[in-house]
This record gives sequence, structure tokens and C-alpha cells, in this order.
Amino acid sequence: MANQPTPMMQQYLALKREAGDALLFYRMGDFFELFFDDAKVASGVLDIALTSRGEHGGDKVPMCGVPVHAAEGYLARLIKAGCRVAIAEQVETPEEAKARAKREGLPSSKALVARDIVRFVTAGTLTEEALLEPRRANLLVTVAPVRDGIGLAACDISTGRMELEECAPPALDAALARLGASEVVGPDDWDNAPSGTIARPRSDFRSDDGEARLKAIHGLATLDGLGTFTRPMLAAAAGLVAYLEHAGRGNLPFLLPPVARGSGAHLAMDAATRASLEILEAQGGGRAGSLIACVDRCVTGAGARQLADDLSAPLADRDAIEARLAAVHHFHADPLLRADLRAVLRQAPDIGRALGRLVAGRGSPRDLGQIRDGLSEARRVRDMLSASPDLPGLFQSMIGALGGHAALVDHLARALVPSPPTERQQGGFIAAGYDHALDALRETSGNARRAIAALEAKYREETGTPSLKIKHNKVLGYFIEVPAKHGDKLMAADSGFTHRQTMAGAVRFNSLGLHEEASRIAEAGGHALAAEEAHFEELVGEVVAAREAIAATAAALARIDVSAALAERAAEGDWCRPEVLDEPRLEVTGGRHPVVEQALARGGERFVANDCSLRFDDRLWLIGGPNMGGKSTFLRQNALILLLAQAGSYVPAASARVGIADRLFSRVGASDNLARGRSTFMVEMVETAAILSQATERSFVILDEVGRGTSTFDGMALAWAVVEAVHEQLRCRCLFATHYHELSRLADSCEALSLHHVRAREWKGDLVLLHELAVGAADRSYGLDVARLAGVPQPVLKRARAVLDKLEKARAETGGIAAGLGDLPLFAASVQAEEPRRDGLRETLEAIDIDSLTPREALERLYELKAEASSTKH
Ligand code: ADP
Repeated sequence: MANQPTPMMQQYLALKREAGDALLFYRMGDFFELFFDDAKVASGVLDIALTSRGEHGGDKVPMCGVPVHAAEGYLARLIKAGCRVAIAEQVETPEEAKARAKREGLPSSKALVARDIVRFVTAGTLTEEALLEPRRANLLVTVAPVRDGIGLAACDISTGRMELEECAPPALDAALARLGASEVVGPDDWDNAPSGTIARPRSDFRSDDGEARLKAIHGLATLDGLGTFTRPMLAAAAGLVAYLEHAGRGNLPFLLPPVARGSGAHLAMDAATRASLEILEAQGGGRAGSLIACVDRCVTGAGARQLADDLSAPLADRDAIEARLAAVHHFHADPLLRADLRAVLRQAPDIGRALGRLVAGRGSPRDLGQIRDGLSEARRVRDMLSASPDLPGLFQSMIGALGGHAALVDHLARALVPSPPTERQQGGFIAAGYDHALDALRETSGNARRAIAALEAKYREETGTPSLKIKHNKVLGYFIEVPAKHGDKLMAADSGFTHRQTMAGAVRFNSLGLHEEASRIAEAGGHALAAEEAHFEELVGEVVAAREAIAATAAALARIDVSAALAERAAEGDWCRPEVLDEPRLEVTGGRHPVVEQALARGGERFVANDCSLRFDDRLWLIGGPNMGGKSTFLRQNALILLLAQAGSYVPAASARVGIADRLFSRVGASDNLARGRSTFMVEMVETAAILSQATERSFVILDEVGRGTSTFDGMALAWAVVEAVHEQLRCRCLFATHYHELSRLADSCEALSLHHVRAREWKGDLVLLHELAVGAADRSYGLDVARLAGVPQPVLKRARAVLDKLEKARAETGGIAAGLGDLPLFAASVQAEEPRRDGLRETLEAIDIDSLTPREALERLYELKAEASSTKH
């Protein structure tokens, strides 16, 4: 019997089975305990002591625990480390458990408090302020492959925003990269699921269910009014609702009506492009050094989240881009309005997230206060905007959404104290004057408190003990305390005091008068708390009923913050409004890389601005010049200018005409990617292959030293072939940086390709990098000069110089390694030139008329074919 698990362990194990691979937080009194492997994982992540208790199956059970009052901080760390946590709470009191045991005829010592998992805490389903980053959306994404398409449902339950989209399988990585979800969920029978996907039953992902659930949630007879949703989108929506329901154990969080994201509406960028352009995160991880860190001047968390969204998914529609640019222009042209508005916005609380918590049933009085303050700030914003002349269309369409909450704001203002607390157990958040019955209850307990203070004075006098005090603690409630030496006086039978407790240096008493006042406080306090609780529920109900309008207000405030912040950034950095075109061009004068420029400015250095001019008949620039000369910077700055323009931002340039691109690709030669596991050259080629298969004439591609991850000959050959393919087949705008001198010969055969280089000059024997772009091929490679700049010792440089001279001499004699390449037929031509191979076996097979054969003949023919196959093998 020693191995029989205790009832508690049985209960634990049953809950753990339900929790699956989530860590189980098992509530025991004031602690959440973890056992077995969960304890090992958690103690490692949290750096807390791993202990053990009892026995299970003959072994000690590893365990660790976290105090309930500090659980949020521990949860945050576990979630950050990629864990999911199931919270098992006690769902009855020990007294209830004992009563239940009694009813079941068990001794009360056998009574085990019932526990249940009340919630799964996962990265994608957080709403708590403490667990969320204010300036970043927190997305949960479900992915549903249905026949040829893949549906994606993305939602941020902290604000309720939900989007559905569909993509083709090869585009899934790019879509997921754009969304940057905290958690990705897919069906359990999907073999090609992206790594890290959490598997849920396939039956959760039925499109019919998705449609039915969305209709039910939003009280709609049809979804037609919301947009066009495909089967894969609805299947993903079904999976999303099912997962949220699973995580919330039946409670659904806040979901706004879904928006269908069209496939061509955005500038597509895959994960490699995002990483190399460091849009939301720098290469080393983290926000510092990224594009967004350099652009973001938002004064609200919601604005910063909207900006991150804009930069992750720039637009591909000219009207939509122009609408955003006009909004930025409005604030750029009116610095006073901008400053006033930003001052107001800075005060505005994050109503989107407060609303998310309230709808999810995890809201607090403070959240109600935030809704009140946020909505009234929105009204001020509306008044300021509508007073400003020539309001752009984007803002005109928002004026309605900014107001319309007068009755709610008024109600909240009357009902709540100015700064309501985050805890509601203690009450104290309903304002005086709002509810007369509540005021009366408060008065009663206030009077009683004053009465107690009066009693203290009276007893001191009566007993002649100035050190007498009336105190309060949780166990005894109110009591009278005197130092031990005065105790006897009060012990007397007729003193009017009853003895309660003798301590080391003090004696404690009760009295009838004190008891009466204390009961009045307790009773009135209990009623007051109940009254406040009822008001809380009512106010939350009112806010929840207006949730869609409040969410629209939050969205409008976020957009206004982004527009004003981009105007601020533009003014600060002297950026210009780009002219947006439909034809594939990119004409930039005085272009700068915003992040590099900022970094240089910190060191007191100046960034050298450069021009770029790509159009269909001069669409591919081959850029040479020394290492460290500024090639990568030039490539990226132009990609970023295009990205910023399509996101609706001003751009770091003196002028810019930007033709809208459908896709943006950025690739960096392999040696910069050494940290990754796969052969770096393999990565480089896989990524390059993706461009060659996906780019169109409307795309914009930057290729930085592609081919350098392998030997010189291989690398140069590949670079050569890639340039030709981009020029001849993709025919898109492209900037290609290379240190292979020989590629300049491509200018002879590719008429829309031109040669450029970053300038360098020798000055007093030293190499000076000018970071200035000039027309024509680089005159030489300056490799040794750069080596000297980098501090390579003299003897090595001298030896290198000797080797180089020898190589150059040989090159001069033979025409160099690229000799004759100019005569090579172009890539496209060479593909066409390839003859289809004759294949005897195929011809024989095609000639067979199966229907005319007997089974025996068929078998014989099969033997013959097999023999032919082995005779033609080489
Ligand atoms: P390459 O790709 O040619 O090796 P990079 O673009 O990486 O060179 O630039 C190397 C360094 O030169 C950058 O880190 C930056 O400090 C500086 N630099 C690049 N472009 C400029 C510029 N236009 N003006 C000033 N400094 C620049």
C-alpha cells in the first residue's frame, strides 16, 4: 500500500493530465506548488529552490513553490522563457470540503479541497498590465491549412483586435514573420507546421464552426457585412476561438469583429528581409538599434503598437498611403497643434488594454478610471482637431469615433473616486455622493471609528492609565491593551472590562461599548463593500456594452498619435514627404540611413547623404568599392526609404519619388550570418532562391555581397548568374553590392544595369573612405588599405602586397578570371537553349496500349521495361 498515491496526489495527477504540457500551478493555501518535472523546469527558470516532499511510486517528489501574492512576476518570467502555465485554484473552502466529506460519510481528516484549472496562462493570451509590454502588440495566431490555402487568424486579446487572412503555403513564413506572434497554434495532424506551433485537435479547425462562432459572438445573422472570409480564414478563426476558450476554461476574452486582410494590400517581406533590415529588432535582438527605435516618437503605448504594425506591414495601395501622408503633413505643417495634441495624448491612459481586461472579467476599478479619463481626453482631442482648418480625410473620418461617450464618461466621473485602486476587495473606489445608502454606511462606520477613539480617551481617564490603547488586528478585531503592570486594575470583576489575552508585556481586554462599536463597523463595512461591488459590476456592464465604440476611440487615438509622432520625427530629422507613384521607380536625392545617421551623430560625426535613381531602363545598380565604404548602408537606406514611404511616413531624404513595390527583399551574403546552425552558404542560397521565385517587376530587391559565402570562383559565378537573372527575368528594381571587380563586365551585356561605387581616396598614404556614391566601376578593391586601417601588422601587409602583385600580373597576362565571361550567353538564353533529352523508356511506355494487354502480357512487358531500364543506366 506504500505505493498507493495519496488522495491529494491523485487529484494532482488528474489535473496534470488536463494541463498536458503546460506547467501546473497547484494552489495550496498561500502558495502555488509545482511537482515532478514541472518543479524542475520552474526552479531552473525562476532560480528558486527545488525541494521534495512525500513519496510517489517509491521516490521523493521534487517540488517548488511560489507565493500567490507574487505569482504574477514569476508567471511573467515563465512565459518569457516559453512556458505555458495552467492555474489550478481551490474551488471550495476547507469548511466546504469538510461539510462535503461529512455528507459523503468520510472522516473530516479525509476532506480534500476540490481544485480545478481555472485558466491557462500562455504568451498569446495575456491581458495583465504587468505581463504585457506597453509598446508592443501581443498576438496569438492560429494557422489552418485547408486544401491549397492556409488560413491565419491573428488576435490581440489585450485589445480585442482580430484579423483573418489567407496565404499560399510558400508565403506562410512571410505572413508569420510579419505578424511576429507570441504564440502560434495549429491542428495536430499538420506535418509541415512551423516549428514551435502548439498543436490542438484538428476538429477545432472547422470552417463551419468558425463561421457559426463568429456570428454568435457578434450577434450577427451573416458575416457578409464584415468582409469576405474564405474557408481557410474561417477554419483558422474556429481554431482561434476554440483555443481561447480552452485557455480561459470556457470564458472568451474580448474579440472585436474580424477584419479580412487582403493578400495584395501590403508590401510583402519575408523573415530574412525583416531581420536584415532590423525593422522591429536589431540583429543582436532587442529594440535598440532597430528602425522602430529610431523612428518611434509616439507618446502612448497604443500609438507605439500601431506604429510597429505600420512598419511591419507597409501598404501597397496609393490612396491609403496618401491618406496617411496627408495626416502626417497636417501635423508637420502645424507644430503648435502637434505639441498641444501630444501633450494631451501623453496624459491619455491605454484604454484599449483597460477595455480588454474589463471584457475578460479581469478588470479593476483602476481600469474603469482609465476608461473614464481616456474617453474624456479623446473628447479634448476631437475638439482640438475639429477646430483646425483643412482637416485631412483620415481625421475627418475619425471625428465621430473620438466622441459619443458623454453619458458614459459622465456616469463614470460621478461614480468613481479620482484615482481608483487596482484592488477592489477593500472598496473605497465609489465616490462620495454617488449612492446615499453607501454614504450612510460609510458614515456609520466613520462614526463608530470616531466613537472608538472617544472610548479610548474615556477609558484612559476612567482607569487612570494614559498608556491604555485601543488596537486592531486580524485575529482579535478591536481590543483594549494596557501594559502588564496596569493589567490588574482592569481585571477587577466590576471594572466593565473582560480579559481576552495576556502577552509578555501587555494584557488585552474587551468591553461592551467597544464590542458594540466594532460590530457596527464590521456590519456597515460589509454592507458598504457589497454595495461597491454591485456598482462595480454595473459600471463594467456599461463599459462592456459600449466596447466596440470604445475600441474605435482607442484606434483613432492611436492613429492620431502615430501621425503626430511621425511628423515630430520628420521635423527633428529634416525628413521629406515622399511622392508616391504607381510606376516602378525609386528616385531619392540626399538619402540617409536613419539608424546609422543617428549613431554617427552621437559620436559627433556627419552622415554623407547619397542619391539613388532607379527606373525601368536603369533598374539595376551594381555597387562596388572598398569594404567599409558604405555599400550596405546605401542599399539599406534605400530599402528603408521605400518601406517608410509605404508605411505612410516621411523619409530621411531631401526629396523622394517612390514607386509602390509589391515585395521587398533584402539579402546579405552569408558570412554575416555565422551564428545560425545551417551551413551559412546554404542559407544564403535558399534565401536567394526565394527571391528568384517570388520577385516581380514591381518588387524591390537589395542584395549585399551575395555569393561571398563560398570560394571566389563559385561565389563570383553565382553572383554573376543572380545579377543576370534579376536583370533579365525579374526585371525589378535592384541594388547589388559586390566586391567582385569582375562583375562590372556585366554592364556590357545588361542594358538596364549601371555601375556605381563608393568613393575612397588615398591621402598621405592612408585610405580615406568618403562614403560617397559615384558613377562608374570601382578602380580597384582597396582590400589591403582597409586591412591597414583595421590594424593588420606591417609584415603581413607587405607579404600580401607581394602576393597581390603576382596575382595582378597573372591577371593582366590572361585577362583575369572573368576573361571571356562577357561572351557567355545570358542566363535566360542558356536555359532556353537546353535541348529536351530523348528518353527511349518514356517513348516505349507511351506506346503501350494497356487496355489491349492480357494480364500475362502486361507482366511480360513489365519485365522487358525493367531490363531496358537497367541496360540504359549509366
Ligand atoms: P560596406 O558595406 O561597404 O562594407 P558599410 O555600409 O557597412 O560598408 O559601412 C561601414 C561604416 O561606414 C558604417 O558602419 C558607418 O559607420 C560608415 N558609413 C557608411 N555609410 C556612411 C555614410 N553615407 N556617411 C557616413 N558614414 C557612413
